[in-house]
Amino acid sequence: MPCRILRVPAEMDVDALLSWLSGRKNPGNDVTARVRDILADVQQRGDTALRDYTRRFDAPNLPSRFRVPHRDIAAALKSVAASDLDILREAIARVRDFHARQAEQSWFTTSADGTVLGQMVRPVDRVGLYVPGGQGGETPLISSLIMNAVPAQVAGVTDIAVISPPRKDSTLNPYILATAALLGLTEIHRAGSAWGIAALAYGTASIRPCDVIAGPGNIYVATAKALLVGEVGIDMIAGPSEITILADESADPEYLAADMLSQAEHDPLAAAICITTNPKLATALRSALDRQLATLPRHELARRSLKDWGAILVADDTEAGIELVNRLAPEHLELAVADPFALLGKIRNAGAIFLGHHCPEPVGDYFAGPNHVLPTLGTARFSSALSVQSFCKKSSIIATSAAYVTEHGGKIARLARLEGLEAHARSVEARLKPDAN
Ligand code: NAD
Repeated sequence: MPCRILRVPAEMDVDALLSWLSGRKNPGNDVTARVRDILADVQQRGDTALRDYTRRFDAPNLPSRFRVPHRDIAAALKSVAASDLDILREAIARVRDFHARQAEQSWFTTSADGTVLGQMVRPVDRVGLYVPGGQGGETPLISSLIMNAVPAQVAGVTDIAVISPPRKDSTLNPYILATAALLGLTEIHRAGSAWGIAALAYGTASIRPCDVIAGPGNIYVATAKALLVGEVGIDMIAGPSEITILADESADPEYLAADMLSQAEHDPLAAAICITTNPKLATALRSALDRQLATLPRHELARRSLKDWGAILVADDTEAGIELVNRLAPEHLELAVADPFALLGKIRNAGAIFLGHHCPEPVGDYFAGPNHVLPTLGTARFSSALSVQSFCKKSSIIATSAAYVTEHGGKIARLARLEGLEAHARSVEARLKPDAN
């Protein structure tokens, strides 16, 4: 039996469900102290530490240079099939087109008295992108590179460094290099894990420090980013992937099973959940999962994820199902129902919403345009996908005149004194003196 079927709330109420799923936050592997040591070591010893770790963990014969030479990038581009390059180009164009719509303009407003107020939007100066090694370089996470690089570029960031752990022979997977080249990225360094993140944050002789670090990675990467919050900007602390599907009797159990497995194959901690009001669909889905698992290359991983964190939930009615979705606040939500647009307005919490029977989640993972870096573990209640805004900051603009200070200075000074801040009050009052102009 690959996946439990539960009646909600009869067999498990929503609070119990949330409490059960929150167990995915604690994989029982406390690596914080270890990562803290690595960060301090790279901060102190710079390139020497970076080289030591990289040679010990990833590439024993790593040359002294971390940066991938231009000729290797050019060679990688030539080595990738033209048809694959075309697909990558199209995916990049679609992601770029979507994110271009997110770009925010600076704005200014002028009052009759000449006061100018506004908000100036500026990209951060330098961004560091992490591309996971991908099981020793065998499964290059090229979509991660696209999803992280494009919003930074649309924001206007021109100084972008990419890091990724090298393979044993000191090279990077040619698909990573080719994708970087298609994105116009040429600063690529062979460094991974917590030491790579430390280099991006603190800088070393070879890698200049960055203002924002983005990109997913394993527990060492995620912990390093979490420890650096405040020191640098980070995209988000991405937890294990999750999908919730809301399905009615119009749904095809084979599609539902395929979509649940598309998450379950990611990670033993991934959570694939289907909510339906139809007990027959629930049973058919469980059989379909069983059948499809048998031929899946990553079946052991997917089976574990489904067994530990998967569920088919049978709700009393559609409203109860929707409320369940909103409480779960899933990273990915599929509305596998006859009229998904009728339900859309009722969804309050979800990272990305896929509508209808012909919009499986991988469409958004790779190609449609929206970002696939999404809030997990219920954080879609208060946060959103990676976006152009993740790579921008906004400066408030205030320009007032002598007349403005004369008119409002007394009120401002009073507010300052109410807070016990005499110097604030005097700063305004200095400009109220007759000779101040
Ligand atoms: P990775 O680059 O994240 O991890 C490999 C690096 O970790 C290598 O440098 C390796 O030497 C280092 N490492 C291994 N053991 C270590 C140890 N004991 N101490 C310190 N460092 C160590 O690449 P990966 O292994 O392919 O992992 C990718 C991860 O990214 C997966 O966990 C996957 O779930 C996650 N991911 C998440 C998302 C998301 O959006 N949430 C997307 C893609 C990938």
